[in-house]
Amino acid sequence: MKLEQVIIIGAGPAGLAAALQLHRYGITPRLIEKARPGGLLWNANWVENYPGFPAGISGANLAQVFLDHAKAGGVDVTPAEVQKLAWDNQAFIVSTNSAVYHARCVVIASGTKPRQFTEFAIPDILAGRIFYEVIPLISSSGKTVVIVGAGDAAFDYALNLGKQNQVIIINRSNQVKCLPLLWDRANTCSNITYRSRVVINQLLPNPEGGITVECFSPKGLMKLSADYLIGAIGRIPQLDFVSASVLERSSEFEKAGILHFVGDVKNNIYRQTSIAIGDGIRAAMHLNKVLKETAHESDCLDRKRRYRRSIYR
Ligand SMILES: Cc1cc2nc3c(=O)[nH]c(=O)nc-3n(C[C@H](O)[C@H](O)[C@H](O)COP(=O)(O)OP(=O)(O)OC[C@H]3O[C@@H](n4cnc5c(N)ncnc54)[C@H](O)[C@@H]3O)c2cc1C
Repeated sequence: MKLEQVIIIGAGPAGLAAALQLHRYGITPRLIEKARPGGLLWNANWVENYPGFPAGISGANLAQVFLDHAKAGGVDVTPAEVQKLAWDNQAFIVSTNSAVYHARCVVIASGTKPRQFTEFAIPDILAGRIFYEVIPLISSSGKTVVIVGAGDAAFDYALNLGKQNQVIIINRSNQVKCLPLLWDRANTCSNITYRSRVVINQLLPNPEGGITVECFSPKGLMKLSADYLIGAIGRIPQLDFVSASVLERSSEFEKAGILHFVGDVKNNIYRQTSIAIGDGIRAAMHLNKVLKETAHESDCLDRKRRYRRSIYR
């Protein structure tokens, strides 16, 4: 059984940064990614708070810069989905859809997953028209997209899709939670309409093949006709693959420096690229220290064993 030094789960900004920094120490981690490396950034319209890009940069271009940088630093990505992370008293066991790996240390950089619609049924026939991220629709044009939400993601998605499509943002309350600058930009985009106090009652297929979004509104029942519906109603940590026993003992493993949670998966409301990157670098620095110490201990043990063998010969 080959024991990997470090396995990193997720090649978003946090995982890429951790991998890059480990390479600088001469440690080659196995970086596992189930989708497109680069993470959630592919969904971001325009990133203006990542230092080094004074004019801002699109999320997609920033993701590509990170990937180019990681590649230049020797980082390789193993394409696979981690289905289970367990512990067998000596090492972590990382089971993917294609292989099982054993690792001394693990970095969980798996980000978040979207909250799904639960208050209304989604007819099977419409399942392919409902999304929770913008990426699947990024090249669509001339379509009508209803976006549900009131935060940064809803408005960022609207600004992205509103370049080539008609977008209707619906918000169940009359409070907008996005950055004022996103609100201002959405207001000046003629392709974006915003409606407050609108709640979806049901989704129906319409004769053109799209969706009739039936909603309660202050003016009564309202029907919106759309090609697609996007939910931007929040995200939660992506930890489905972590076994209950690892979760239970996570503080103990973290204290020992062999398990690290980095980036959005643990950052609650502080989900930002620069923070995720910082987390990744810090975890790698800590891992380098831990691995050096354990290597030193096993060197000493080896030397002791060799000495004992030599005196008993
Ligand atoms: C619309 C939008 C706009 C944004 N704008 C900005 C902005 O302007 N500025 C800013 O700083 N940040 C912005 N962000 C936030 C930024 O994208 C995140 O903070 C950042 O991507 C977090 O990086 P991460 O590596 O922690 O997680 P993620 O980017 O989510 O990466 C996690 C990775 O783990 C992978 N993964 C998950 N589970 C598994 C598994 N079981 N097996 C293998 N791989 C797995 C995922 O596929 C993903 O690639 C925005 C986000 C969105 C959605």
